[in-house]
Amino acid sequence: MSLKITDQCVNCDVCEPVCPNKAISLGVEYYEIAPDLCTECVGHYDEPQCVIVCPVECIFTDPVNVESREQLLAKKASLTREDVP
Ligand code: SF4
Ligand code: SF4
Repeated sequence: MSLKITDQCVNCDVCEPVCPNKAISLGVEYYEIAPDLCTECVGHYDEPQCVIVCPVECIFTDPVNVESREQLLAKKASLTREDVP
C-alpha cells in the first residue's frame, strides 16, 4: 500500500530526503507521494521513514493503493533492480 500525504502538510521538506525510493516530491499545493514508487519502506526499513519524521502526522495509508508485503517487496526489487543479475 502506498502512503498518502493529506492537506495538513506544512511543506516542511523533512520527508522528501528520507524516502529511499524518491517517491516524495512537492506537488501543486503540498508534498505528494508517487504510488508507483512508495513501498511503505518495506525492504529498506522496519517503519515508513516519512511517517516517523513528519512533524504534523499528516501521512497515512492510502486505501486506494492496497498492496501485500509480497507485492511491496517485488516493487522494491524492481525499483532497485535487485532482480537483475
Ligand atoms: Fe518513501 Fe517510505 Fe514514505 Fe513510501 S513510506 S513515501 S517509500 S519514505
Ligand atoms: Fe509535509 Fe509532513 Fe512531509 Fe513536512 S514531513 S513536507 S509536513 S508530509
